[in-house]
Amino acid sequence: MSAQKQIYEGKAKILYTTEDRSILLAHYKDDATAFNAQKRGMISGKGEINCKIAAMMFQLLERHGITTHFIDCPAPNQMRVRAVKILPVEVVVRNIAAGSLCQQTGLTLGTVLPYPLVEFFYKNDSLGDPLLTHDRLLLLNLATPEQVEELQRRALRINEILTSFFHRCGLTLVDFKLEFGVDQQQKLLLADEISPDTCRLWDSTVADPDRRVMDKDRFRRDLGNVESAYQQVLERIIRAVDSN
Ligand code: UDP
Repeated sequence: MSAQKQIYEGKAKILYTTEDRSILLAHYKDDATAFNAQKRGMISGKGEINCKIAAMMFQLLERHGITTHFIDCPAPNQMRVRAVKILPVEVVVRNIAAGSLCQQTGLTLGTVLPYPLVEFFYKNDSLGDPLLTHDRLLLLNLATPEQVEELQRRALRINEILTSFFHRCGLTLVDFKLEFGVDQQQKLLLADEISPDTCRLWDSTVADPDRRVMDKDRFRRDLGNVESAYQQVLERIIRAVDSN
């Protein structure tokens, strides 16, 4: 199945139409951005690594009954996905305090949360992706009340599955971001990607706060060895999948 028309270029992926209207082709890029694209760079090999990681994460979730947009990977940095209308909401799940949660609440980095926290952010670059309240989400019609409930339920289930899987990889799932979309049959599917670009992953065996970082924070915070951290995550995931 060949790519036809480019319909969207995001920070990490380009989406193309295919001969089948219900299927899109996602091309994963090596480009890296952070801080609402104020910081730009390149992580060589990232496109292939993230595409492979995302494919394995979608397959893992599908095996646990979570419906996703994933179909298959026709090339190492390409993924065929079901066409969906993406809800303009980023669903973040947190197990450990980091990033904007620390900045906005004063919680210390690394604080283990008493229960997983689900947060919604408005997917809107010009507004800087602000944190949403439940009422604002409904006020802006970003999702229906039923969808909000379903997003919350599914995000927590995905967190259970991923936390336990990453534990087997020797990685701690600190937090992550999900995006969902609605297909032509109005079915809610997990979309976008799950990768070290969208998850905070810490090496469980390392205590040093900089050395343990295995995700995009290495790029955001100029910690170095970005490519090798992503590669290491991929290798650990492959090992965990193979040992199953
Ligand atoms: N995240 C993401 N895309 C975004 C914003 C956040 O993938 O546009 C991920 C981020 O990598 C982290 C989680 O969502 O795993 C929570 O991010 P946070 O709100 O702490 O924001 P950050 O400090 O990363 O800007």
